[in-house]
Parts: sequence; C-alpha cells; structure tokens
Amino acid sequence: MKIRTRYAPSPTGKMHVGNLRSALYEFLIAKHAGGDFMLRIEDTDQERFVEGATEIIYRTLEKTGLVHDEGPDKDGGYGPYVQSERMKTGIYMKYAKELIDKGEAYYCFCDKERLASLKTEVVEGKEITVYDKHCLHLSKEEIEANLAAGKPFVIRQNNPTEGTTTFHDELYGDITVENAELDDMILIKSDGYPTYNFANVVDDHTMNITHVVRGNEYLSSSPKYQRLYDAFGWESPVYVHLPLITDENHKKLAKRSGHASFEDLLEQGFVSEAIVNYIALLGWSPEDNREIFSLEELIREFDYHRISKSPAVFDIVKLRWMNGEYIKAMDFDKFYEMAEPYLKAVLTKNFDLKKIANMVKTRIEVFPDIAGLVDFFQELPEYDVEMYTHKKMKTDSVSSLQVLQDVLPLLEAQEDYSNDGLYQLLTKYVEEKGVKNGYVMWPVRTAVSGKQMTPAGATEIMEVLGKEETLKRIRKGIEKLQNA
Ligand code: GLU
Repeated sequence: MKIRTRYAPSPTGKMHVGNLRSALYEFLIAKHAGGDFMLRIEDTDQERFVEGATEIIYRTLEKTGLVHDEGPDKDGGYGPYVQSERMKTGIYMKYAKELIDKGEAYYCFCDKERLASLKTEVVEGKEITVYDKHCLHLSKEEIEANLAAGKPFVIRQNNPTEGTTTFHDELYGDITVENAELDDMILIKSDGYPTYNFANVVDDHTMNITHVVRGNEYLSSSPKYQRLYDAFGWESPVYVHLPLITDENHKKLAKRSGHASFEDLLEQGFVSEAIVNYIALLGWSPEDNREIFSLEELIREFDYHRISKSPAVFDIVKLRWMNGEYIKAMDFDKFYEMAEPYLKAVLTKNFDLKKIANMVKTRIEVFPDIAGLVDFFQELPEYDVEMYTHKKMKTDSVSSLQVLQDVLPLLEAQEDYSNDGLYQLLTKYVEEKGVKNGYVMWPVRTAVSGKQMTPAGATEIMEVLGKEETLKRIRKGIEKLQNA
C-alpha cells in the first residue's frame, strides 16, 4: 500500500508554527516511506477565509522545501484539491445523502430561534449547542414538504445515545467515549458547504490518505469522525494527534508572541532551514541526541513512532542557537546575499561590506544581530576610558596613552593599510618594546572601535576603516586619555 499523506490547511491567515509542524511531519512520513504528500485547501468555512492566506501556504511550502506531489496546482488524479471546488462536484451532498439513507444522518430544519433556546455546552472554550434530535423525528412527508418549500436546512450526524465508540491514535492509544456525549454535529451547513468535520472524512477517504497528522485540538472530535468511517464502512487512516506547542511559560504559543508564524520568524532573521530543523524537534526526537538535521536527513531518520505526546516548548533561545549554527555552516555568497540588507541599514559610508560580513558570519545567531556588531564602523561610539584598563593584557590608561602616542606617528607614516601590513607594523613595535601583543593591540582596538567586544582584531578593523578614519580615532583616544 502506498503511503499518502496530506497537509490540509484552512486559508485563515498566517502559517503558524503548529501548522508548519503538521505539514512537515506529514511530508516526512510520506517521503520516508517513498509515498506521496498532497496539499488540500480546506476553504469551506467562508467566514474565516482570509484573502492572501492561500498564497502564504504556497510560499511557505516552497521556502521550506516541503514540495507537494499533488495539489491544486499539480493534478495527481484525486482532484479537485480545493474543498469549495470539490463541493461543486456534489461529492459531499452525495455522501451525506448516503448517510441519511442509512439512518446515520438527518435533515434538520430548526431555525435560529429554536436553536438559541437549546442547551449549550462549552467544549474547548467554544460554546456549542447540544442538539436535541428534534428533527430526527420528522416524518418522511414533513421532510419532503419542507424541502419542496425551500426551507433552509442542515444535515446532522445521527449519533446513538447508548453504547460507546472507540478510535485509535498512534500517540494516545485507544480512546473510548460514551456515545451519549457525542453531539449530532452538522455535516452540511445551510449554505450547502460541508463542515470541516464532514469534509475531512470524505476527502481523506476518497483521496486515499493513509496517515493523518494534526493538532490535538481535533482529538475530541475524532470519535465522531470514527462513527462516520464506520457508518460508511470505510477504514480510517492512521491518526497522529500532535501535542500542543507552548511558550516558555507553558502557555499555548500565542499569536501575539511575535514568533508564532513562519513568516514572522523569517522577518526576525531566522533562516528557513533552521526553522524547519527546529520545528522537526518540537515533538519528535531521533534515537541519539543529535539536533542538526537537513531536510534530507530528516526524511531518512524520521520515524513517526518516536513522536512524543508531552507538550513541546517553543524555546526561542534554542532556535537562535540553532540558527547561528546554520549561519556558520552557510556558504559565504549565500550568507552575504542575506546579510547585505542588514549591513547596508547601518553602514552607509564606503566600506568593504564583504570584509565586514566575513567578520560577523560566525558571531551572529540571527541577522538582526549584525547591527549591534558593526555599527561602530559607521560612527565611533562614546566610550569610557575605563575600557582601556584590562587586567590580563596588563594595560591601564597610562600605558594605553603611551602606546597610542607611540603608534600614531607610525600609522601616519604607513602607506599600506592592509590587515597584513598593519599587523606587521604593530608587531614590530611590540617586539621593540618587548611587551605582549595584547599590551598594544588592546588599546589600539579600543581606540578604533570604542567597544569592548568587536567582531575582529585591531588591524582588521583598521583595514576596513582606512587610514584617515583610523588616525582620527587614534587621536581621539589620545585626547580622551589625556583628559582623563
Ligand atoms: N483544515 C484543518 C486545519 O487547518 C485541518 C485539520 C486536519 O489536518 O485534519 O486546522
């Protein structure tokens, strides 16, 4: 049997970390087994439809490399792949009628007023009406008359009031519920659209889906889906309901946290590969403790039996670390292409940006870190003379003043402002003085950068600054130290 999985997003907005995780796991299950990964757009809830959301889905799948084998843009013989288009083929109505014939569903003509008078229950924060099966008892004639009169209707699932229903989830095992707890959920809405609850069952079956991965918010509805499968006499797919993703405070990852969606993360300077790698580990782990995986490696290693049901904590600090690892490993040209806008945002003078990019590549976790590392090139920051004092380098403000006064004429006379040339010049002075390297380099670096930490050594910085600016900064250092 060929493994077939589907990512079935509703186009209701951004692609959240949880959605991306479902898509990734579905993709990995299929690819690991040499199967097919399909995209199905679930747009039957017209009220929640958001303009542009479908484009975000395509964009995200493309950027993350989760290439679908079939979908609205790639026919694989199971189309249409958009539920609103499937509806027009009459497929949902046909199956709903089949259930009516079997006594597993019924027409309901109750109006808003009547429904409003019924008991409600809060299920997962949402208030739902517990339908009292009123319309189940309509006679054939009454139903026909209502339909003929064009009275609006929905079609409801007819759940038994006795007995139990059991379904199986790969993570949660067998789950059994009392049928009396199952509400007669709507299968076809009054606008003729199927509900998600009905469409997902019909589609997963008719599209030959073998494995369904989704958030565990669907777990409580799954017995009702199971009843639909049983009513049709269909075999249900393997279900994997994924644990909730929480923030550091163990609260559901909130949209307002700012890093809940894929595109938010890209905007914050994370790279796609690192995001995918990190998300793979939100609920899944390999046998060893390895953490860095390319998509190819994930495909090879991914075994869905190793998905864990404990809540997954989205740890931005960990993601930052991982992103840094990806940046370090990136080839320079690609890195430069991504870094350039961040460099240009702070460095408007005529600097060799490639040299600066090279300095920061191994020192950042996300691209916006660049600004804070390189801004001193643009403008010497105000700094405290205390910075010249360094115990290990055996420097203080007196020794530093001496060094800067000594090297200033050397630097004035120097023509070759390459890193090598400058390094030779300064180390010659170091040797003559019989001091340690740092005794000279520390004050020089402090003077040219105004920073305790810099992405490169003194002479590399001077090379980028050039002669004129270097001399200006050394003189400024001397002045500061004299005034101290
Ligand atoms: N359309 C549903 C959603 O976006 C899909 C759930 C499922 O994968 O079955 O949440």
